[in-house]
Amino acid sequence: MSGNGEFEATIGLEVHVQLKTRSKLFCGCANEFGAPPNTLTCPVCLGLPGSLPVLNREALRLGLKAAAALNCRIPDAVSFDRKNYFYPDLPKGFQISQHFGAVGVEGEVEYWSEDGFGVIPVERVHLEEDTAKAVHAEAYVYADETLLDFNRAGVPLMEVVSEPAITSPAQARRYVVALRRMLVEAGVSDCDLEKGAFRIDTNISVKRKGREALGEQVEIKNLNSLKAMEGALQYEFDRQVGIIEGGGEVTRVTLHYDDATGRTVPTRVKEVRADYRYFAEPDLPPVALPASYIKQIEAEAEEIARPATVIRELFEGYETTLAEAEMLAFTPGYYDFLKAASAAYGGERRALVNWLVGDVTRELKERGMELAESKLTPGALAALLELLDAGEANVPAAREVLAALMSEGGEPAAIMDAKGLAQISDAAAIEELVREAVAANPKAAADVRGGKEKARRALVGYVMKKTGGRANPTVVNDVIAKVLAEP
Ligand SMILES: [Zn+2]
Repeated sequence: MSGNGEFEATIGLEVHVQLKTRSKLFCGCANEFGAPPNTLTCPVCLGLPGSLPVLNREALRLGLKAAAALNCRIPDAVSFDRKNYFYPDLPKGFQISQHFGAVGVEGEVEYWSEDGFGVIPVERVHLEEDTAKAVHAEAYVYADETLLDFNRAGVPLMEVVSEPAITSPAQARRYVVALRRMLVEAGVSDCDLEKGAFRIDTNISVKRKGREALGEQVEIKNLNSLKAMEGALQYEFDRQVGIIEGGGEVTRVTLHYDDATGRTVPTRVKEVRADYRYFAEPDLPPVALPASYIKQIEAEAEEIARPATVIRELFEGYETTLAEAEMLAFTPGYYDFLKAASAAYGGERRALVNWLVGDVTRELKERGMELAESKLTPGALAALLELLDAGEANVPAAREVLAALMSEGGEPAAIMDAKGLAQISDAAAIEELVREAVAANPKAAADVRGGKEKARRALVGYVMKKTGGRANPTVVNDVIAKVLAEP
């Protein structure tokens, strides 16, 4: 590789998110994915002459809530504008968007990564209507044609525009992961990438480190997975560095990313510097937002469990890895369960994490259920771990009790008694068995005396077999040492 380290990227992201409303942004048609093509349409979303838009109050509320969740400043009124351009997926010849009156400005996304936490500023959050969907891939479309499905036309879309403050493809990914999680937690969107409810446009320019002037900006549109986004940005970064090092100049262009080849390719459409001739939408009056309404939205946003905050708490309070923190934070029910169990448990919190991401998760997977569907309570897991800590249960016994707790619930101590799993820590009883073991395995005993530690296994194994695995291994080892030390 050439000296990529001398260069840095300046990346901005525009993320389009479909809002989780029942109906579309300006008409009563259902906002649904997967219905037969062109069955969810009406004169408004088909752009027929004489039809008039009516703002969906819930879409506005969700947009404002998202803006508040991203710590945006919320204006005291919002308005809509026409963005004029001609494209087959746009039935009216313009898109109703917010150019002058966004639902929020000057926000931020806090992200987390292996290297710690960071904040990327958000320039604005605005609402607009989605376009129709061009259909190419279906079996009923001929190779040389494009069909249009207007079910998507008019679906409420929110655009979150970051400041161009991202400096690497990896950081772009962390930003998107954190933003997406925040919007899911806020309940404004499912952010389902596969259903097109979360789509990413990026722009990237490259400059030599320390230089003020930015290079020419290149846009990469319609990235539909995190992997595609990171791959496209990395490919584009390397491509632009190559051009600059070769003494060339990067030209302003819009690209698409080809998943199959991992390359960016110019769009087929001839790129014109667009003039959208924005003007206020005459059919929609501005909407004043009373202070009390904004306050209520902001109070709701305060209630959201902020992903970065939760991750930080797990990192710092429970000594988790990043992967564990994400799992505990984002698997339904886990975080609340962990907090409740840790309030009830007197031992090391780390032990709870181990059991939750380990045995509990494996049991849930085997049963194909979620945590809330099992009968395990936080108090029962805490009590089980306390039996372990007190030496009253060993790990295999605790696993057996855990399985019972998950199926039937109950008290760990009572289950252990009923199943005869209590650990044997009585040194006298164990000593008797150790003497038997030595008598039955004289060679092993002699080997251990001679310093062959591995031979100890035969003696421990004997005692475990005799006790059905219930002997306390620490006590067994102590007693073996004592007995073998006898003259
Ligand atoms: Zn409609």
